Amino acid sequence: MNEQTQRWFPNSMPAPMVDKYSLPWWQACAENRMTAQRCKSCNHAQLPPAPLCSECRGNDFELTALSGKGRLYTYTAVHQPVSMEQTLPFIIAVIELDVEGTPCKNPVRLMSNLVECEEADLEIGKPVHVVWEKMSDMVSIPRFKFTV
Ligand SMILES: [Zn+2]
Repeated sequence: MNEQTQRWFPNSMPAPMVDKYSLPWWQACAENRMTAQRCKSCNHAQLPPAPLCSECRGNDFELTALSGKGRLYTYTAVHQPVSMEQTLPFIIAVIELDVEGTPCKNPVRLMSNLVECEEADLEIGKPVHVVWEKMSDMVSIPRFKFTV
């Protein structure tokens, strides 16, 4: 089984909420492409996609391609199950995504999950890369693994 079809979370986990602002981003995720919403007016990049730029309040955006590589910015280990099938602990993480070769004026951070790691291995700043959890033909969710 390759990384694109692997599952780490049960089907009983809530599905992502998609709206007209986040739909293009989720469509890129379904194609296993990491992107960020970038404001055409001020070059601020943000995730998750939103109706307005959090920097200049503009609303003219494009998706900018990212490598899917980054670093662990912060995390928490969850020891209480969300569902009965949940493997514990699971890690909620904020990933700071690399923007090399992609001009934007700020760090781009995404809240996600770290998978296939031991709690003892958690270390702020450690390099990570995206892995895609395919929930359906329409939905792939970006999770992250430590890069060894
Ligand atoms: Zn802006």
